[in-house]
Amino acid sequence: MKNSPHKEIMRELDFAINELQELEAYPLEKLAEIVKDVGFECERCTRCCTREYNDHVFLLEKDVERVLSIDPDCTAPAPYFDFCDKNGTFYVEGYALRYKDDGTCKFLKNGLCSIYNERPSICRIYPYMLHREMDEEGNLDWRQVSGLNEHGYYHVEMDDETSLDIARQVKEYEALYLKQRINFFKTVLKHFEQNKLRHVQRQYDLLMRNFDKGEDVGVLVYHKGKLQPHKHKI
Ligand code: SF4
Repeated sequence: MKNSPHKEIMRELDFAINELQELEAYPLEKLAEIVKDVGFECERCTRCCTREYNDHVFLLEKDVERVLSIDPDCTAPAPYFDFCDKNGTFYVEGYALRYKDDGTCKFLKNGLCSIYNERPSICRIYPYMLHREMDEEGNLDWRQVSGLNEHGYYHVEMDDETSLDIARQVKEYEALYLKQRINFFKTVLKHFEQNKLRHVQRQYDLLMRNFDKGEDVGVLVYHKGKLQPHKHKI
């Protein structure tokens, strides 16, 4: 792997495979206990539906067609592109919801989610998660709640069945996300090998600077085993 022209992809692929194994081994009951102890209840502040607070709403593959059937213009390539080839094409693992110019989700209307029953998977489990992230000392550790104590009500009474159900949904979401990421890496790897391409960091940095200034870039977005072309600007 050290001398492979695709070492960046293979490193990310290994990391995602390892994280999926760790996720599957994480005890459901332990997560359910944390969920029950946190006892989160939404206070409808709507902060989690804004770019300022949540950066972006990532869509799993199974969410994409559902939200597009409600609004055909509601998706965009997820931010933070993963790779860039020598021709200046970026690659990213999936789609995100498009925000309005004021930085709020397209579906937030009068302080409520207008597609509540059809909302994306991430909106259903929020603020719970099961990510391995660096802690303050730089060690990899599990993070289970987003924005703890920054919004909502806490320590609201919850029965065991509800906390187990939430924990199950969180693990399911994270597993689907990691499988999508793994398939994305495998697809890019194949695409690079077939087309004699590789990731070029210098090109990535240069074009990202232009993109941040508002220039168009070409992006290939992973969706259901394929890389779909997009013209994209901020
Ligand atoms: S889809 Fe609904 S719940 Fe999800 S961010 Fe948009 S308004 Fe909020």
